[in-house]
Amino acid sequence: MAVEMPPWCGECDPDTRRFDLGDSERRCAQCHPYWAFGHDSVEPRRVPVGRAEQEQAARWLAYELVSLRALPTDELRRRTRKFFEAGWSPMDIVHALDFDPDGSLVRFAPSAEDPADRVQRRVLNLLSAWCDENGDPLLSPAQQAEVRRERMHSRQRAQQEKWAELAARRTDPQASVRSGARQIAAAAALRAKQMHLEARQRERAARLADEQQQRRRDEQIREQLSRLQGIPLPRNGSDALEESRT
Ligand SMILES: [Zn+2]
Repeated sequence: MAVEMPPWCGECDPDTRRFDLGDSERRCAQCHPYWAFGHDSVEPRRVPVGRAEQEQAARWLAYELVSLRALPTDELRRRTRKFFEAGWSPMDIVHALDFDPDGSLVRFAPSAEDPADRVQRRVLNLLSAWCDENGDPLLSPAQQAEVRRERMHSRQRAQQEKWAELAARRTDPQASVRSGARQIAAAAALRAKQMHLEARQRERAARLADEQQQRRRDEQIREQLSRLQGIPLPRNGSDALEESRT
């Protein structure tokens, strides 16, 4: 487990590639990997393009992540190149080694005591967890975040369009006519008026029928009373004329 080192300059500490300045240290400008490999020029969130940038990014990753140093340099380059070609940035790979694709935190922190082959196996497992069944990288964490952001924006746009449509409908007096709501309301009002009229007609007819029945009953009572009292009912004119002849 060793980070790839540039050739030693012969002046600094060969192990740390630093100058010991008493109470502070300084990275050797000649042969410290940070400067020698141009790590200061690596933008972790930018996707490295081309062989040279991809190799530099792989070196940066091995420098930043102790666990990646378990991989042989060629293996690390080959593995990371596949991700870089799929649009991953170095930072996406850092994320992939910390989180599973489902977002759960990986329970794995390499320690110096771990045998190199076990660390290597774990790192390879973590990287392949971010590949599909064909071994091709999934969308990177940043690409997934972009997809989520885009999906959220399109939902918001759809919502805003719906609100705008509703607002336009409210301020357009003809819209309710177009939608037919006003005709339906007018037809309902007309129908209610007709029903009210019909009800009043039925009521009047019933009252008339009642009055007629009452008059007939009064008539019958008068007839019965006069028959009981032996008072002849007034006859009509033709009957009286007939009687006077006999
Ligand atoms: Zn040096």
